[in-house]
Amino acid sequence: MGFSTADLTLLRIRCDGCKQYTDKLVTLLLRRTTMTCAVCKASIDLTTPHNVLLIKETAQSCERIGAALIAQAATEGEPVK
Ligand SMILES: [Zn+2]
Repeated sequence: MGFSTADLTLLRIRCDGCKQYTDKLVTLLLRRTTMTCAVCKASIDLTTPHNVLLIKETAQSCERIGAALIAQAATEGEPVK
């Protein structure tokens, strides 16, 4: 099942406060607009152009494997196909 493959894809998001990276599952990031830094516990904005692109690009590569999951998780648009 593609579900597990997409679910295991980690994305590294950099904290603006401490400049450290936190790994998060892509499927979790798709549903959120912020996340908590694992190092300094600051709130990291996931809606910045950089983070939006990063999450989107990673999600798109997962989409080939877990299309149904991504379509369900993403709220911002319909798949082109
Ligand atoms: Zn931090």
